Amino acid sequence: MKVNFVETKNVITKSNIPDVDYVINPYIGCQHGCIYCYAEFMKRFTDHSGEKWGEFLDIKQINLDTIKTERYDDKTILISSVTDPYTPLEMKYENTRKILEKLVGTTAQISILTKSRFVVRDIDLFKKFDNIHVGISINTLDSDFAKEIEPLASKPLERIRAIEEIKKNDLTTYIFISPIFPKITDYKDIISETKKFTDYYLFENLNFRTHNISRILKSIGKSFPENLEFYEELRKNPTYWDKLELEIQEYCEIQDLDCKIEFHHGGVSKKEKKKK
Ligand code: SF4
Repeated sequence: MKVNFVETKNVITKSNIPDVDYVINPYIGCQHGCIYCYAEFMKRFTDHSGEKWGEFLDIKQINLDTIKTERYDDKTILISSVTDPYTPLEMKYENTRKILEKLVGTTAQISILTKSRFVVRDIDLFKKFDNIHVGISINTLDSDFAKEIEPLASKPLERIRAIEEIKKNDLTTYIFISPIFPKITDYKDIISETKKFTDYYLFENLNFRTHNISRILKSIGKSFPENLEFYEELRKNPTYWDKLELEIQEYCEIQDLDCKIEFHHGGVSKKEKKKK
């Protein structure tokens, strides 16, 4: 792991994500090295072109005095969007913790999103906020497949135990079932394992990008070769996602779950539009 230290003017930046006003990314890069990661485009903007995603981490050097807590009152803040706030080296450098300590007192709604069991370290701090939601992203309970696609993230069951622990402390919890790997992600299984201690669920589909296609296909070929042909087809025809979206909606209604589906695959597929 190549570690650098970089000066940062502003660690809290305006967001383009719907319903999110600001994002906080305490690091550049992410040790978890997920094969599908959409944040890999960051390499181009941060002098890391040619480096392997997951093998570098820039520790942002933050002037904490520039964080004016009241500026974010009543806004929404996501921690994080292009790194993981509890990447293993957070346990050493504590950028996430230091930023959160500065934000205590804000009325902003803060959403923490991670794939790391280390998130439990900050439960004491989370309890100081009035409006904080703590979530994990997960897409399989199969630890072998998780290791294949998210090599350095915590094991799925470790993430689940972390969110259970957070709920025991009376905090709002959520699960981001993302990205959904067709024919592999069993969202019903994940929900039944977690619903006792989860307040709401979000869902996101798998998106193919130029940088991740070959890695995704390689991992599917290795772990689920019987699905390889289906994945090749899915790239050309996204109709599958429309059907899955409806199926998840119905399931959430029947189970009386608070769910939000955030599928982005170019909207309703052309085929479905023609049918209307
Ligand atoms: S944890 Fe998130 S930011 Fe980190 S590599 Fe995985 S998908 Fe990317």
